[in-house]
Amino acid sequence: MSEESAREVSVASDCLPIVDYLQLGEDPHLVANECTNCGARYFDRRNACAKCGKVEFAQVRIADEAVLKAFSVVHRAAPGIPVPYVSAIVETGDGTSVRANVLGLADPMDANLGMHLRFSVYSCGLDDNGTECVAFGYTVV
Ligand SMILES: [Zn+2]
Repeated sequence: MSEESAREVSVASDCLPIVDYLQLGEDPHLVANECTNCGARYFDRRNACAKCGKVEFAQVRIADEAVLKAFSVVHRAAPGIPVPYVSAIVETGDGTSVRANVLGLADPMDANLGMHLRFSVYSCGLDDNGTECVAFGYTVV
């Protein structure tokens, strides 16, 4: 990883996740709400499944490994990562689509569809109280 790449962090217990579905701790990972009837997964809270209409959900851990399915090279600043960067849709090993940035590419133009990635977290700044905010992305394997 170059100096220009996003800074990976060891996640302290007092860090704040940038989204509710990012679980921090010793083994950071994503958690989705999975419909117990049809298996559809959602990262946001749902009253009912958009696919089958049922209302029962279970929380499931999302696999860390992923494959790059679609991407765009972005030339607009974002907190905690150098510009330009790769905004992507990845498919995790358990078939879940996740929108995230690809981390660890020396040149964003090196991104290729189908490349293998792994879940990772990075610091995206401090809030007014000095608490570190943590975001997630996928690093090239
Ligand atoms: Zn469903």
